[in-house]
Amino acid sequence: MTADQSKLEQQLAKLHQQYMERLKEDIPVLASEVGALVTLPAQSDWRAVILPLKHKFHTLAGSAGTFGLPQLGKLAKNLELQLKDWMAQESAPDLAAINSFMSIFQQVQYAHQSGHQVMNLTSARLDLLNDQKAIIYVLEDDEETAHHLTLTLATFGYQVQSFKRIAELDLALKTKLPDALILDISLPDEEQTGLEYIAGFQKTLVEALPVLVLTSHNSFEHHLQAVRIGARGYFVKPVNTTSLEARLQRLLAVRRREAFRVLIVDDDQLLAEHYALVLQGAGLRAEILLDPSQIYEGLNRFRPDVVLLDVLMPGCSGPELAQLIRLQDEWLSVPIIYLSSETDGERQLAALVKGGDDFLTKPITDTALIVAVFARAQRARQLADMMTKDSLTGLLQHARVKERLSHELQRSERTGEPLSVVMLDIDHFKKVNDNYGHLIGDQVISSLANLLKQQLRKTDIIGRYGGEEFLLILPDCNQQQAFGLVEQLRQSFASLPFSFDYQNFHCTFSAGISQAKGADDTEQLIDQADKALYSSKHAGRNQTQFYQQPS
Ligand code: GH3
Ligand code: MG
Ligand code: MG
Repeated sequence: MTADQSKLEQQLAKLHQQYMERLKEDIPVLASEVGALVTLPAQSDWRAVILPLKHKFHTLAGSAGTFGLPQLGKLAKNLELQLKDWMAQESAPDLAAINSFMSIFQQVQYAHQSGHQVMNLTSARLDLLNDQKAIIYVLEDDEETAHHLTLTLATFGYQVQSFKRIAELDLALKTKLPDALILDISLPDEEQTGLEYIAGFQKTLVEALPVLVLTSHNSFEHHLQAVRIGARGYFVKPVNTTSLEARLQRLLAVRRREAFRVLIVDDDQLLAEHYALVLQGAGLRAEILLDPSQIYEGLNRFRPDVVLLDVLMPGCSGPELAQLIRLQDEWLSVPIIYLSSETDGERQLAALVKGGDDFLTKPITDTALIVAVFARAQRARQLADMMTKDSLTGLLQHARVKERLSHELQRSERTGEPLSVVMLDIDHFKKVNDNYGHLIGDQVISSLANLLKQQLRKTDIIGRYGGEEFLLILPDCNQQQAFGLVEQLRQSFASLPFSFDYQNFHCTFSAGISQAKGADDTEQLIDQADKALYSSKHAGRNQTQFYQQPS
């Protein structure tokens, strides 16, 4: 068990404890209200007495199961349904009916004192995301190729370990599995080929290790052998390292994806915290909104991939809130999942019609919650990516990056944190196209994009602003810090070898930086970064400059 996990389980246990404390206070109150039901037949507005009680049992039914008290949950559900039946009757229930209700309620008082089930979170973790560098092993007996590969991949930000002999690799693999393996398959000094070795090793694994094959053979037979040992890429020497890196990045993209964000709207704080912890335990990010009137602010600040909505809340119902969310173009496609103890199929349907996508019934198991949210988030992210990202680089498109800048500006004004904007443009790019062709030009563009993705923080926002022009938004970063970052990127990029027809060449970029000062608007900041970029170009390219206020 990892430290994180045991901390999480401690937090869950604490929440459970708090829930039990709350029950200790709530149940006696409930008991006196149930006791007062004996006066019901004599009251003219008896429905007004039943209604709030029905809500209380509804809430109890939803929360008890979640906090490991399924027996209590079931009882509460039955009582809720009983009260619902009474509401639908012509006249108040008679004393016999009330007595039988009370005897069921007595069981509630026992049930809440019985022990809870231990929650097992280990099985609930589907995906642990980490921020660490990807580890790549390389098996290559040719020193020059190995050196070249190691340098390039290190420039991109991978942690590379290179081996010459199968025995060395074997030892390393048995000590720690890498994220991917790059393998030369012809090793004249060895008794086994690289393929034979890895075929045997893959059999010992539950999940195949992603392998990229390096070879001097280009036959169908060799390709086939490679596929059979689980190769996810096949590169004929001399290896084009930047396209190999692009493949690697695609292979690892799922693992390095930014965590899915889930906004939980529920007026029951303990329950909301429970959901949040469970989702966080599975590697998702979750934020709780207790007050539905803050919904727009919550959406804009947190930018969720999925919204989890409670159906019954005071002041504003879940379906109403869903309709509110759908009023904004920007949030038309965010998936909305209702979470409710509502089991009536028709009411569920009615809620779905009002802007929701799915309906989960409380109590829900941790695993079911994670699976439902994860699946929705994944689909939503894929669709959103298709709509908002550039196909060559996977970066945000022009209009989207400007949208994000305007959000980040608002945020920086609110928090007082600095915000810097950088405009990058590849130098003499027309010549790259002219000398090596458009395809190689595309490769240079996507390599720079990959370098930016690898080296910047997850909170930084990267957009493809134009053909060979990129816009970076760096939150919580002043222009001096931005300068340090961009200079590092500039040197990395300049050192990347590109190859065309057995010859290597290099590219550079120029950059301009501006920093938000108070109420700067989006256009103005971009314009200032652009002016600074122009100064860099004018001063000879391959450099970074700040925006200078004209004197
Ligand atoms: P400077 O140093 O002043 O930036 O010179 P430059 O040649 O890079 O600048 P210019 O803006 O004149 O040329 C950019 C070229 O980039 C023109 C265009 O054909 C090319 N380009 C734009 N988008 C793409 C693309 O997606 N792929 C490729 N291969 N070329 C592109
Ligand atoms: Mg250019
Ligand atoms: Mg340009």
